[in-house]
Amino acid sequence: MRRSLPLFLAIVVCLAIWQVWLTWRLMEQDRNLAAQHARERLEQIADLAVAQLASALGEWDLSLRELDALPPPASLRTKLPPDGTLVLLAHHSVAVYPGKSLLFVPEPPAAAPLPNGFEAAEKLEFRDQNYDRAIAALQPLTGQLVTRAEAWLRIARLERRLNHPEAALAAYDRMSGETGVSPDGVPYALLAAGARCELRGGAELQRLRAALIEGRWPLHRETFEYYWSEVNRIRHTADDPPKDALEFSSLVSRLHEQWQQALRTGSNSSGREARPDASLLIWYSTPTRLTALSAPAGWLGAGLKLPANSGDIRWRLQPSGLPAGAETHVLRSLAEAQLGGKIEFSSIAAISHGGIGRALWLAGLALMLLLVLAGAYAMYRGVSRELRVAQLQSDFVSAVSHEFRSPLTSLSGISELLANGRLADESRKNQAYTYLQRETGRLKHLVEDLLDFGRMESGRKHYQIEAHDVFGVVRAVVADFREEALAGGFEVELNLDSIAPTVKADEEELRRAIRNLLENAVKYSPECRTVWVEGRVNHRQVAISVRDRGMGIDPREQREVFQKFVRGAAAKKAGIKGTGIGLSMVRQIVNACGGEIRLESVAGEGSTFTILFPLAGAGEARK
Ligand code: ADP
Repeated sequence: MRRSLPLFLAIVVCLAIWQVWLTWRLMEQDRNLAAQHARERLEQIADLAVAQLASALGEWDLSLRELDALPPPASLRTKLPPDGTLVLLAHHSVAVYPGKSLLFVPEPPAAAPLPNGFEAAEKLEFRDQNYDRAIAALQPLTGQLVTRAEAWLRIARLERRLNHPEAALAAYDRMSGETGVSPDGVPYALLAAGARCELRGGAELQRLRAALIEGRWPLHRETFEYYWSEVNRIRHTADDPPKDALEFSSLVSRLHEQWQQALRTGSNSSGREARPDASLLIWYSTPTRLTALSAPAGWLGAGLKLPANSGDIRWRLQPSGLPAGAETHVLRSLAEAQLGGKIEFSSIAAISHGGIGRALWLAGLALMLLLVLAGAYAMYRGVSRELRVAQLQSDFVSAVSHEFRSPLTSLSGISELLANGRLADESRKNQAYTYLQRETGRLKHLVEDLLDFGRMESGRKHYQIEAHDVFGVVRAVVADFREEALAGGFEVELNLDSIAPTVKADEEELRRAIRNLLENAVKYSPECRTVWVEGRVNHRQVAISVRDRGMGIDPREQREVFQKFVRGAAAKKAGIKGTGIGLSMVRQIVNACGGEIRLESVAGEGSTFTILFPLAGAGEARK
């Protein structure tokens, strides 16, 4: 059976591997099926979402066609995406809803021609260089609406030439409320603010900067950039204009360009754009106006309505030209919604559920394999133990039969000789009687041993535990045994401490135990013909040891020899007879008397069996 262990384990391992392979295949199929279902669902959701998006954008197209003024009607306002902006461009006008600052506009108010009335003042200023008289000539013009702003501008310039900064500032202050535009196309109020910055600096610079950011005047892009750089120059800074406002103003300019292009074709047109940052632009133009909706990145989140059961679905825009994503992703072109690029849908649930499912499968499989292996091993152990016990029992029966057969054969032979009167000689008769007596004694002894062993095994054995002088018992056993040993050429050396230690034990059984150890010592010492018996006492216990220099016991067998029916390999090989119950009985007796038995042995060198009993306390006496 022991030899068949590797074969048995190999079969179990092969079965386990086959099972793993089978389970893995099943899992693979299951995974593929789940992936296919997830993909089909994803495709349905993607189709639905894109169709729904196309229809939402179509609605916006219609709304932009109808929009002819801002703010829009309430019905449109509620549909506006979060942070979305409506733009309405008409000739020389820009309207934005909700209100946003425009740093510059595509079509600022046109520059007005210089009104009449300035010729006299110009001659005095440029030809005569008579600045005081020029100022005087300009004064009347400050009273008329058409010439007022230009007159103050020129007065301020002349005052600066005359080195009258306070007077110049006063003139600029008068200009700050003007709404007109100079012949150069720059608002008078901006010209005044710029000049005040040069003269006063400080708070004036802050004020101009704030006015530029808030888009107070509709400016050309170049005008805005000039004054922005002027502010930076005077303040010794290098600030950029606010990014959002700059981008939005540029967007409006771009829309204007688009409108101009559309105008050249002469027909109404529209367009849509999903930009790389995922922001959206839809516009519609007629010869009189352009309306547009600009939505920042994130508009799609509000605009894309996924079905209720799709909480696990994620999507993202992909610019055109990018390769498709992983297998579990679904890509849809946005052409249906008249937008460039693609939209990618994926499911987080499909991936994570698959992962957990697989982990559970694997854990279950590992557990199952473990159970199969453990079960197989337990079965193997159980069967091999049963077989070993059966083998031991069969050995025991054959050994006992053998123990009986040889003396019985001799006994029947001698009895026959005596009965037939073939032993006439008196001395030979006596010899035969002595032999008969000894052999029957041995048989009786053997039968008693077997009966007692049966009682011990079944727990029916009664022990007479009393206090005894244990060394006295040892002496008696040794004395008894010496005669038999001498017949076989053996000597027994006895060496006891000079104390009479008392232990509690069953005297008869104790004798049997010590005798058994002595018999074994002689039986398993084929060479050395001396056996040593020693008795030692310390303050707690008595140790009685029987030592021989015989064949010894293999270390691997030293625990097993105390089990019933177990015989050492060396003993069997040497053909020494025995039943394998002696040491088992010795151990049961010693344990029943509260002691223990130890073995020290070296194969080929000899063995020492030591019985340890606790001292009974009272009754110790010096000899
Ligand atoms: P038996 O002697 O009848 O075989 P035991 O139970 O007395 O049975 O001993 C069990 C085994 O222990 C023996 O078969 C033998 O192998 C081994 N053994 C016992 N005593 C000794 C000893 N003194 N020296 C070597 N081997 C021993």
